[in-house]
Amino acid sequence: MVDDKGLNREENVSVNACDKWICSSCIGEKHLKAVIDKKGIIHKCSFCGHENKAVTVENLSTRISHT
Ligand SMILES: [Zn+2]
Repeated sequence: MVDDKGLNREENVSVNACDKWICSSCIGEKHLKAVIDKKGIIHKCSFCGHENKAVTVENLSTRISHT
């Protein structure tokens, strides 16, 4: 008999089409800008409408709460 401990960890990262993106130029905070420059991808910003290094707002708030 085999004792099988199955740890099933499914990470479900879903990106909604309605996600808001914010680019580094729309961020005033120096430290958050750095986060976007590091983690962001080129995407259309939901605030200024330009294609820039951006992250989703959801993603950003996760970062903030971590601080
Ligand atoms: Zn922007």
